Order: sequence, then C-alpha cells, then structure tokens
Amino acid sequence: MAPVRKGRACRARIVTVARPDSSRTSPDDRPLEGPVRTCVGCRTRAAKRELLRVTAGSDAHGRSVVVPDPDGTAPGRGAHLHPTTGCYDLAVRRKAFGRALRLTDGPGSAPVGEWVAAREHDDRSRSTSRSTSGSNDQDWSSSS
Ligand SMILES: [Zn+2]
Repeated sequence: MAPVRKGRACRARIVTVARPDSSRTSPDDRPLEGPVRTCVGCRTRAAKRELLRVTAGSDAHGRSVVVPDPDGTAPGRGAHLHPTTGCYDLAVRRKAFGRALRLTDGPGSAPVGEWVAAREHDDRSRSTSRSTSGSNDQDWSSSS
C-alpha cells in the first residue's frame, strides 16, 4: 500500500478578476416604468408615482420641517418615501429626511407623519366600508 502523501498540496492560484464598475449600467432589477426613486425609509427603489415626495419647509416658528408634497411641484430639494407609516417611521429613525434634504438641524416631520397616517386610514376605511347591512334601521322609526 502506498502511503498517502500529505502536504504538497498544489496551490490553486486564485484569480480575482477585478470587475470594472461600468457593469452598473446594466439594470439588474426588473425595469420599472417611468422615473424611479429610492424610498428614504426602506431604501427600496420604486416608481416615482408610487412614492410621496417630501420637501423642506418651515413651520409657524420658522424652524425647518419636512412637509409632504403629493403633487411634486414644490421647488427645491425633495426626497421620496413610500406613503406608509412603516417607511415613515424608518425614515424618522434613520434621520433620513434631514440627510436627504440637507437639513442639519434635525427637522421635524410631523406633517409628513400626519399625511401618511391620514392616507393609510383613508385606504383602510375605503376597503372596509363595503358592509352596508344593518345600517339606518332606525331612520324610519316613527316619532309621533
Ligand atoms: Zn419604503
């Protein structure tokens, strides 16, 4: 029996191919229609029309505050966010609004939070308002 030779392992030469960054030009995700923006909350790219644009404004005391811009018409720097409380909370926790809008003094973003909450509430009430049975039963009870 021939002794098993240990050692002398042939050293595989690891070849690392440095990839040029130009490969970024090819889209790796499925193409989205129209302009695409990144949500400042969950950092996911989405079609611009699915996101809420927010811009820097000022409140009644002159402090900078992040305000919703659903029409996307406000001038100046804007950031984009999924109109959900989840993404809003993420953005707040990451201080993403201030960073995206170049605001250094930690802007408030209550108007955006209220807008998102109202919209979510609106969506929910619209989807649950289908049940019409059992309402208005007492309308025609005589009141003589
Ligand atoms: Zn998001």
